[in-house]
This record gives sequence, C-alpha cells and structure tokens, in this order.
Amino acid sequence: MKLVDYIIVGQGLAGSTLAFKLMRQNQQVVVIDEEKEFTSSKIAAGLCNPVVFKRLTKSWMIDEVLDVSKNFYRNQEELLKDQFYFDLPIYKLFTSEKEQAFWKQKSNEPELFDWLNPKTEYPFDQEKLEHPFGASHVLNSGFLDTNKWLSAFKEYLIEKQSFLTSTFNYDDIQLTDDGVIWKEYQAKKIIFCEGYQTINNPYFDWLPFKLTKGETLTVNFKNLNFKSAINKGVFILPHNGNYKLGATYNWDDFDEKITEEGKENLLERAGRFIKDEIIIIEHKAGVRPTVKDRRPLIGEHMDHEQLLVFNGLGTKGVMLAPYFAEKVVNLLLHQQPLPEEVNINRFLE
Ligand SMILES: Cc1cc2nc3c(=O)[nH]c(=O)nc-3n(C[C@H](O)[C@H](O)[C@H](O)COP(=O)(O)OP(=O)(O)OC[C@H]3O[C@@H](n4cnc5c(N)ncnc54)[C@H](O)[C@@H]3O)c2cc1C
Repeated sequence: MKLVDYIIVGQGLAGSTLAFKLMRQNQQVVVIDEEKEFTSSKIAAGLCNPVVFKRLTKSWMIDEVLDVSKNFYRNQEELLKDQFYFDLPIYKLFTSEKEQAFWKQKSNEPELFDWLNPKTEYPFDQEKLEHPFGASHVLNSGFLDTNKWLSAFKEYLIEKQSFLTSTFNYDDIQLTDDGVIWKEYQAKKIIFCEGYQTINNPYFDWLPFKLTKGETLTVNFKNLNFKSAINKGVFILPHNGNYKLGATYNWDDFDEKITEEGKENLLERAGRFIKDEIIIIEHKAGVRPTVKDRRPLIGEHMDHEQLLVFNGLGTKGVMLAPYFAEKVVNLLLHQQPLPEEVNINRFLE
C-alpha cells in the first residue's frame, strides 16, 4: 500500500494549484489524471481580465484574487524556470459612440481607476482591423499560457513521484474509518477536481452545474499583426507566433468534439471587423465547469468527510484557482471554515 496524505483527481487549474499548495505545506499528494488531449484548462485562452466587459464592472473578487494569482504563477516561473504568465493589455473595440462614452464615464468612477484606461485610442491598422469608434484597454490584465504551465507542472509532479496517469473509477473507492483507499493508495482524503466531469461522480453529481461548452481556433492572418489582446464579441490574442480566437458558448452540448457550427460562428464574428484573410491552424473544444450561481463549488461531502470537491471555477479559472486553492488548504490543514459564498453547503436544503 502507498501512503499519501491526499489523492487529487484531475490535473487542471484546480487540481494543480491545490497540489502545489499542499506540497508546499509538506503534504504528500498523488494527482491522478487521464490526460485527455483537450480539457477546459488546456484549451483556455488564459486571459486574466479584471473587468466584465458587458457591464464595465470589476470582476468578482478581483481585489482579492488578482495579486494572489499573479504571485502564484510568478513563483511557478521561478520554480520551473520558464515564463507562463504574461502582462497583456486587452483592448475593447467600441461598436458605437454610445459605447465609447460609456467606457469614458466608467473610467472616471474611483472603483475603476485601476482597471480602465480613460483614453480612446486608435491603435490598429484600420484597413485590416476596423475600429471606427476607437478602442481602449484594460489595465493590469494579462494571460497565463495554461497548457505550457500545466505540462511543466506535470513534469514537476512526475519528478516528485506524485503523478499517475489513470482514469479514476469511483467504484474503486473504499471508505475507511480514518480515510480512504483507492487501488494501491491509502490517503486521509480525496479531493475531486475533475472539472465538468464531476457530473459523472456519484458523490457530487447533485451539484448544480450549468455547463458551457466553448470552442476556439488557432489562426493567423495574411498581413495583419498586433501584440495585444482584442475583444469585440470575440477575443483574439497573440500566442506563439499565431493568434487564439474564441470563444463560443454552448449550453446544450457537453463534450470536447469540435463542430462546424462553432468554427463558422467564430469566423463570422471575427470577420465583422477583421478585413484580412484568416488562416485556420487548429480548432479545439472544451467544457467550462460553470455553475448556476456563477460561484466556485468547494466543500466536503455531507456524509463522507474524506471526500471533497474543488470545482466550479467557471469562466475565470486562471484568476480564481490559486486564491481558492488556499482556502481548501486552510480547511484541510487548519479547519478554517470556507467562505459561505463558495461552500457547496449553500445548495443543501
Ligand atoms: C474555450 C474556453 C476558453 C476559456 N477561456 C478562459 C480565459 O480566458 N480565462 C480563464 O480564466 N478561464 C477561461 N476558461 C475557463 C477555464 O478553462 C476553467 O475555469 C478551468 O480550466 C477549470 O479548471 P478545472 O481544473 O476545474 O477543470 P478542467 O480543466 O476540466 O480539469 C479537470 C481535469 O480532471 C481530469 N479528469 C476528470 N475526470 C477524471 C477522471 N475520472 N479520472 C482522471 N482524470 C479526470 C481531466 O482530464 C482534466 O485534466 C475557458 C474555458 C474554455 C472552455
């Protein structure tokens, strides 16, 4: 029997941030992942956008989570000797004078001083990237190269003999008086970080997910090039010499299969303002673990305290994962209660 403190199921953003924070507290973990080619974390654009573009409000808990997440990824860069997090302005291209004026008005609100650049700019080549009403950018934004970080962190886990490639089968769980046994592993607890696949987990399938499939394209342009991220109905951001273009939102279809409809939808929306040939390089799909009330799902199973869940990071996993992984660690190691807003108990009658 192999003895560990914690078994973590899933090596996405949730499982990886949690694994590292537990290891830093000298806890022995094993992370189990079936290594699908496409997952939500692997295909995410990775944007850290402190502003909700629709209403021009601050993103939920931004003052608490942004510094924690940036510090976490910077520390990972030191540890793993590579760059994963990049500062990157995100430009919103205005669709009308009204939208331009609304941005200006919001940028004067003290709450948004740190997040919205007040100036209207015309930073792109109008011939190839139309923005007749100008644009402006978010301050303190950036992006995490999620795939690059997750694969580097997996190597770290392998080096520490803390990674296992396997499909976790729930029938193999044996609950004991003081812990849990899974195959040849004995642990105090299992923390499930399976993203949307928690809908198949018999212990947590009651959680009120409202899943959202998303598709993205890796593209390039015949003549156009730019160095910042752009948002106008779709986002486009430079990545490894190409551009990521996304994303679709589909609430009825839950798998990683790419669709012709998804591709056409992205090309049509980008084509409204990109006046250059778009060359498709790759097409991917994933399912976001979005929740009915748009808040993370964290907590212990009501009858089996050896089983926990860390999930529901929704559309903002990059910014939320490091902060809430810390909350899970505080619960596990110091019995600190979870914030009510994210505790799964909120859904118990
Ligand atoms: C198109 C798209 C664009 C996005 N853009 C952004 C963005 O710009 N910024 C941002 O912050 N967020 C973005 N997101 C959201 C972000 O990706 C998620 O919040 C985050 O990835 C969720 O991470 P997770 O670890 O909970 O889940 P996942 O990434 O789904 O990870 C779960 C892991 O568990 C494994 N697993 C599941 N079940 C089992 C099992 N039974 N056995 C073994 N392994 C298992 C899976 O293989 C997977 O590796 C985007 C998502 C999509 C789909």
